[in-house]
Formats: sequence, C-alpha cells, structure tokens
Amino acid sequence: MSDAKGKTAAQVLADYDGPRLRIMEVCGTHTHEIFRLGIRKLLPPQVDLISGPGCPVCVTQVGFIDEALWLADQGVTITTFGDLVRVPGTTRSLASARADGARVQVVYSPLDALEYAKAHPEEQVCFLSVGFETTVPASCLAVEQAHAQGVENFSLLVANKTMPNAYAALKGSADVFLYPGHVHAITGTSLCEELVEQGVSGVLAGFTAKELLTALAVAVTKAQEGEPFFVNAYPRVVRPEGTPAAVELIERVMEPCDTEWRGLGVIPQSGLRLREAYAAFDARKKFDMPHIEGKANPACRCGEVLQGHCKPSDCPLFGKVCTPQSPVGACMVSGEGACSAYYQYGGDLL
Ligand code: SF4
Repeated sequence: MSDAKGKTAAQVLADYDGPRLRIMEVCGTHTHEIFRLGIRKLLPPQVDLISGPGCPVCVTQVGFIDEALWLADQGVTITTFGDLVRVPGTTRSLASARADGARVQVVYSPLDALEYAKAHPEEQVCFLSVGFETTVPASCLAVEQAHAQGVENFSLLVANKTMPNAYAALKGSADVFLYPGHVHAITGTSLCEELVEQGVSGVLAGFTAKELLTALAVAVTKAQEGEPFFVNAYPRVVRPEGTPAAVELIERVMEPCDTEWRGLGVIPQSGLRLREAYAAFDARKKFDMPHIEGKANPACRCGEVLQGHCKPSDCPLFGKVCTPQSPVGACMVSGEGACSAYYQYGGDLL
C-alpha cells in the first residue's frame, strides 16, 4: 500500500499500486468534468471509472416522452429543459412533434414555465419535471406559487427521482461510489453514512479539477484500508444536515412513489409525485391521461451503460448510427450523458 502523506492528489493516483478498483461516477456532470479536465489520463490502469445513472435526462423512461407527446397532441403547450426535446420516445421526439406544429417551449426553470403560463392564459401549459433532489425544489416552488396565485392553466408532468433506493439498487456495481455533490447539498450526508453500515463505500465529490482529483485520491487511499468508508470531500458546499428548507418544501408538495428508471426498471419508492392537495396541477390527472408505456430502441444499450455494466464504446451503435446530432438513446442526447461524454472527449481512451 502506498503512503499518501506529503503527496499531491495527482501523485497519490499515479503511485497507486493496489488491486483493480472500480469507481462509479454516479453523477453525469462528474463523468463530463473528469473527461473534460483530462483527469482520466492521470489514473493508473487498474483504476476503472464507470458511469452511473445520475443524469436526469438519461434515466427518464421512454414512456415519459410518450406521455409528453400525448399531451402535446391534445394541444397542451409543453415547457421543458432543452435536453429533453431531442430524447427519442417510442416513435418520435418532442423536436419532431414541434416540427409538425406542436407547441414546445424551452425554459430555464419551472418558474419560467409558470411565468409563461401567466402570460398565455389562453393556453394550457405543462412543465416536464425531471431530475433529482437538486431540481425538485424549483418544481415544488412553482406549484406552490401557482396554487397561491390561482394560476389554473399550469401543470407538471412529473418524473422526478430520488437517490436513496437507487444506491441500494446499484449495490455491487462498483467498489466506490463518487457521490453527486449537488444532490447531497440538499439531502445531507446521513444516507452516505448509513450505506457504510451496509458495506458501501463512497466519497462525496465537488466539480473542480482540485475537488475531483482530491476525491479520487481519497477513494484509492481509503479503499486500500479494506474497510467500507465514507468521506465528504466537498465540505465547502455539502453540510451534514443538507438544506432542510428545500427538503421541507419537497415534502410539503410531493410524496414518494414507485417509479421506472431507464435501464434499472421500477425501483420502489424512488420517485416523487404531487400530493393530493396539488392534484389540480398534476397533468396526468388534469388531462385524464391513459396509461402509456414506452418502448426503447432494442439496439440501444443505455440501460447497461447506466448501471456500469458496459461502456458507451461497447455499444455497436456508438459513433456510427448514434451520435449527438442523431441520438438513438438518451445517454447520447444529454449534456450529462455518458455516451455524449465518450463521444465528445473519449479520443484514444475509448
Ligand atoms: S451509443 Fe447511443 S444507442 Fe448506444 S447506448 Fe449510447 S445512447 Fe444508446
């Protein structure tokens, strides 16, 4: 075991002479930043970085896109973050629906969508609410404000997800999790500490070169000690208690439910839905939506990529049929998707 004392994080990584170590970047932004900053080139060959399910667009189920398309077909104005527009549904995307005349507006936040609804009272406006604990509070705030202001033409189509049960589903996929800093800035660190009791190791990481190198150096150093561990290597942002006001806001407006994750299937109690008190803002109820089940392109291996079972470059469509300009799966669309990161930065590391 190499001694980390007095070394820089890069030296610790370069000097690692332990066994093979699989580190999962749970968060898609970590995947992209590690590539972009050239950090992969500093890792010894026995440290394997694998991508996880932490890209909100990538884990959103195909059926959700089909639901949004169904709403658009009813004349509802769809407001959404830009990434979702090009994600393929079963047979088409919101981009193709927009080309055919559907109203699809890109917004930067749910509050922008609410403002759009207030400015266009003649339209029914639905915001596509996806993402993890980081983005849920803004959706909840928009619903609370719409309720308080009596805005009746605003609703959410919700596919938000939460991380605790996803970590449980991913157990065994990696030796160490690189935990997503922005999720735990909301939820705090108690879950990571509980996972240690279950034998799961992890390091909470920030997003700068220094923070990522430090987190990876901590991971390889602690892993050599042979015991499950948790280290918060992002203490400037993540406090043990998280952000209680945001957690309370989520709990006021939404409640846990079972939900489907692309590639991981249904994970019990890993999703969120609007509470009954806010049913008037739930697009599925408001528009009496039928049950819609999506079907992913069978050739796409996004599901395996999201579980760390294969690398994007193992997919036969990668870079040939599937490119950022012509994506077959969600992982190639999103700015946080693993396939898109490999395509943009992979180079000779593929
Ligand atoms: S390269 Fe494209 S088709 Fe293959 S797994 Fe990634 S998104 Fe799916």
